[in-house]
Amino acid sequence: MTSLSIIVPVYNETPNLQMLIERLDAIARRLEAEYGMEVRYVFVDDGSRDNSYDLLRQLDFGGRKARLLRFSRNFGKEAALTAGIDAATDCDAIIMMDADLQHPPEVIEEMVRIWRDEKVDTVYAYKESRRVSDGVAKAALSRIFYRIMNQGSRFQMTENAGDFRLISQRYANALRMLPESERFMKGLYGWVGFSQRGIPLPHVERERGQSSFSSLRLLALSFDAMTSFTTAPLRIMAFAGLLIACFSGLYGLYIIIERLFFPSSSIGLASILTLISFFGGLQMVFLGLIGEYVGKIVSEVKRRPSYVIADDNQVTGDGRPSQ
Ligand code: UDP
Ligand code: MG
Repeated sequence: MTSLSIIVPVYNETPNLQMLIERLDAIARRLEAEYGMEVRYVFVDDGSRDNSYDLLRQLDFGGRKARLLRFSRNFGKEAALTAGIDAATDCDAIIMMDADLQHPPEVIEEMVRIWRDEKVDTVYAYKESRRVSDGVAKAALSRIFYRIMNQGSRFQMTENAGDFRLISQRYANALRMLPESERFMKGLYGWVGFSQRGIPLPHVERERGQSSFSSLRLLALSFDAMTSFTTAPLRIMAFAGLLIACFSGLYGLYIIIERLFFPSSSIGLASILTLISFFGGLQMVFLGLIGEYVGKIVSEVKRRPSYVIADDNQVTGDGRPSQ
């Protein structure tokens, strides 16, 4: 008998949990009937400020096993997913999904079918059209982000693929082996490789509760991701420096010739000041960029764990899901 663990990171999701579990229950029942699969849950409460965890403890998971973890504080969604994967060692496949029903549970069936039929190690859902859901500016920024991320690396990060995915146990094993404490999951998925299949995901608005990711936080996250997965920005910096050096060499030559043949012309103070402040600014930007990388090194060498678990409850279930 194959088994499937469904991992859900939870941060202030009280309005959604009941509905989520009801919809998951229907899917679990179908998977059990159709494939004889055993379905389990892992809920990771990422230090919610509402009473999501207490609610989870009261809910009935239809007689299925559920592991309810609670972090000691808010560690972020990536950490919650990591904890879920770390906990789900005793199953054949793992599903990761959001708690806010933006990842329709019905898609899980399709994922399981593809995983079984095509023997791929990961099935991910991707946003079909970013432009509709996110607006033109955000879509363009995200393009640039993927361009830089995938620049010259051996592995590719799949564009517009989210965290809604199925992974096999051996894929999960590979993820568990990665030692970094700051975990950008989308990059890690690309790094581990394996065979993959994508399925389009219709855009669903969050009905209840609030998204925890503002545009500003997303921008900060993508900068973080870039500095932990690629050194392309450093290379771009080096090229920019080379280019500027070449230009100033040529410009110097031009000034010498001008001085020799047209001694009356003079360079204004304004142009000198502009140049000095321009290059002063540019150097600060470059230094800041190097600083970002140094900061990454500092936080990684400390080898702190990515999360701390405060509570760990097991709902054993009777093994036989209620009808
Ligand atoms: N989440 C989390 N920790 C956080 C923020 C969010 O575990 O610090 C969870 C949240 O409960 C949800 C998922 O991550 O299950 C996606 O969050 P959200 O809907 O806010 O993100 P969006 O859909 O806007 O990208
Ligand atoms: Mg959401």
